[in-house]
Amino acid sequence: MSKILRKTEFGNPILRSAAKHLSSDEITSPAIQQLIQDMYYTLEHKEYGVGIAAPQLGRLLAMSVIDTKPTPTRPDLVRQKLTIINPEIVQRYGHKVEQWEGCISGSELYAKVPRYLKVRLRWYDEAAQVHEEDFDGFMAQVIQHEVDHLHGILFVDKVRDTKSYMTFGEYKKMRTV
Ligand code: ZN
Repeated sequence: MSKILRKTEFGNPILRSAAKHLSSDEITSPAIQQLIQDMYYTLEHKEYGVGIAAPQLGRLLAMSVIDTKPTPTRPDLVRQKLTIINPEIVQRYGHKVEQWEGCISGSELYAKVPRYLKVRLRWYDEAAQVHEEDFDGFMAQVIQHEVDHLHGILFVDKVRDTKSYMTFGEYKKMRTV
């Protein structure tokens, strides 16, 4: 049985702390396996959410789950699920491009955030197997946002175009016209 976990919001110190890496034994433990299920279940219930990091659910652990389901503002997304544990961006390609972003922990705020279009990620999956792979497009953006969370970095820290800040209502209008 999965349950919805309560989210932490901007201002909570846990979102500003470095998350703890997990050992292989910890990853495969029943407690972490359950937490992964609960994270996916919680994310599924966030209509606009495509990724969530453990600190956003009150756990200072270096893991995030990604589920790029189509949302009202991104209806063309191709659904892809990825569990990233102890993730590390080992290479960044080219230059950064500004892309729209919000955060489940910062409910009402959207802005343009400079992100690399392509990154190489090393991570452990839910079976404690290590992977290394290149990601581009939307997945690359989500990965950079999620890895930042595990270092106590929030998207607002990276906004350069501060005039791009928008409320959720205005963002939704812009994206669904
Ligand atoms: Zn976030």
